[in-house]
Amino acid sequence: MKKKSLLLLLLGLSLFQLSAKEGMWIPVLLEKYNLEEMQEMGFKLTAQDIYDVNHSSMKDAVVIFGGGCTGELISDEGLLITNHHCGYRQIQSHSTVEHDYLTNGFWAMNRDEELPNERLTVSFLEYMEDVTERVMAETENLEGEAKDKKIKENTDRIVKQAKQEGKFTASVKPLFYGNQYFLYVYKVYKDIRLVGAPPSAIGKFGGDTDNWMWPRHTGDFSLFRIYADENNEPAEYSPDNVPFKPKKSFPVSMKGIQPGDFTMVFGNPGSTMQYWPHQAVDVTMNQRDPDRIMLRDKKLDIIGGDMKSDPKIRIQYAAKYQSISNSWKKWQGEIKGLQRLDAINKKLTYEEIFKSWAQQNGTWESEYKPVFDAFEKDYSKYAKYIKAYDYYREVVYRGVEIFGQAQTLNSIINNIENDQNERAEQLRSSMLNRLPGFFKDYNQPTDEELFAALMPVLINDLDASFLPSEVVETIKDFDREKLINKVYQKSVLTDRAKLEDLLKNGTEKQLLKLRKDPIIGMFNKLNFIYETAILPEVRKVNKSIDENMKVYMAGLMEMKKGQAFYPDANLTLRVAYGKVEGYEPNDGVKYKYFTTLTGIMEKDNPAIYDYDVPDKLKELYRNKDFGQYDVNGDVPVCFLASNHTTGGNSGSPVVNGNGELIGVNFDRTWESTMSDIMYDPEYCRNISLDIRYALFIIDKFAGAGYLLNEMSIVK
Ligand code: ASP
Repeated sequence: MKKKSLLLLLLGLSLFQLSAKEGMWIPVLLEKYNLEEMQEMGFKLTAQDIYDVNHSSMKDAVVIFGGGCTGELISDEGLLITNHHCGYRQIQSHSTVEHDYLTNGFWAMNRDEELPNERLTVSFLEYMEDVTERVMAETENLEGEAKDKKIKENTDRIVKQAKQEGKFTASVKPLFYGNQYFLYVYKVYKDIRLVGAPPSAIGKFGGDTDNWMWPRHTGDFSLFRIYADENNEPAEYSPDNVPFKPKKSFPVSMKGIQPGDFTMVFGNPGSTMQYWPHQAVDVTMNQRDPDRIMLRDKKLDIIGGDMKSDPKIRIQYAAKYQSISNSWKKWQGEIKGLQRLDAINKKLTYEEIFKSWAQQNGTWESEYKPVFDAFEKDYSKYAKYIKAYDYYREVVYRGVEIFGQAQTLNSIINNIENDQNERAEQLRSSMLNRLPGFFKDYNQPTDEELFAALMPVLINDLDASFLPSEVVETIKDFDREKLINKVYQKSVLTDRAKLEDLLKNGTEKQLLKLRKDPIIGMFNKLNFIYETAILPEVRKVNKSIDENMKVYMAGLMEMKKGQAFYPDANLTLRVAYGKVEGYEPNDGVKYKYFTTLTGIMEKDNPAIYDYDVPDKLKELYRNKDFGQYDVNGDVPVCFLASNHTTGGNSGSPVVNGNGELIGVNFDRTWESTMSDIMYDPEYCRNISLDIRYALFIIDKFAGAGYLLNEMSIVK
């Protein structure tokens, strides 16, 4: 027994020995944990060059772009680069069949031609700060709800102070499941204009087929410019605004990369789950991923089919299709990766190691056994409720599109019923404002198909306790034509003129009557079940899991005391470092670390939208007209490195040892899609656009070389 636990402990030390390349590190703690190693790997600057609140540092050139990407400043006149897929919704929203910027690209040839984007923001981190003590103040003697209440009070006070009367936005986020708390304070700019985007056949080259894959040839970038008021402060869009002057922008390197070179990705990774217990991995790979893939298969079949049939529908649904397919494909890779890693058994081994560590120091029975018992119980409950949750999310809230409209109207009705007239008015006017945008990108027959395909699956697959009986009755023996007639033809939601009139002029009484509308009525019943029988249970079980995770996490940190430890990603600024390197995905296959323009020509296929290389690019290639971007008779396009990244890192700057921009991160390889849950240094690689390809496209392809004049280019 003694021998066995010693063996486990040794195994544990090696299993937990984080590879140099794993980890998304907190910028303010680099000096303490990472700098030495980074410098050994080729980083030539200091931790203050990355993050400093008193002097300008790299952090002042990195933003959260929109709701979940990263972007970086590449000029002192507010010019910003991010991914094409991050700016996709904006590019799509400006596109029509006549001005199809998705297909043809868009390039402002001067500042006046730059396009404003409603609701797009970029957020600069002012500072981050460990506020654990302040969050936990006066909670030592509290338990349960009283403790939660105190923590909330403390947090609210910290956030309120940090906001400085609306000058900043601020949030306190738990790290390590609440073993630590950090405050993040941002300045948010709101006038962000589109400057340039390559055609999709460059910016999205390879489409879904190549997404999450190597070798990759996607020119995944777009350019925006931040505008500010005359004091360089955030302002709503105005023609009088001027280009924002950042404290720092990245020098752009033309020097290129060599295998083994140091790379650092500095961005806002969204979420990872590195410390999950085995039950969580199990339910994800064996239930959640397969369920959501199956539901999205149906959506993609329908939407994709309609997009192929009509250029108008292709534009209308491009961004929606992209957002459905991105995770759909990732989950498929994730299952494979977790299977290859034998992830559940690996987790079980970790847990055994942890157990013997705790047994040795006498804390197992009292502290950790109850936690592991609770995981067992909680996750079996979780599996049941999360299934219903996933189906509702995929079908009702993000599937059948008209339910989205029903949701807003349903809230309007609820607010009227509850005498919340001001809120009802707000919702009415915001719905009215959004109607033109909704209908621009809505094709009713596509939505009817979605309804007819998804609703029966919801009804058939979920337990009756998660379904409103009236809806089951309606859908059960459904005759598709009749049902569609009954639901879509009779609803006010599909009659734009009537709906507009009702929102503008309708009396409260008329609005209340909409409870009987077939779509709103159906939504209301589904929503009721979701909000009373599903969501509260998911929240309850999640809360219990999180509380136990907090204890487990504290134990893990104790076990690894003195070693560098990184918290899961939470869409805040992190540093990942590694090096330029290829990998060997399968027996007999070795991937090079970079791709070139020649590879794009090899993939050229005019019959397939995603591989239809633009004529101009072919011409440049034929004439070898590469200008200063020529590297050995070719142009570099993408490269691989071993930085630990995830969604949210899309658009992140990839810098070399001198802090110069060498690339823009945009994806991971097929064999790395499981890295949110379990990282594997042998296989995990992030994919970046070589910055020289972006410059080549801007300059030689688009003829927008004037933009290079405002960059600081290092040759
Ligand atoms: N392309 C990815 C995304 O969808 C980036 C990543 O997860 O590595 O956000």
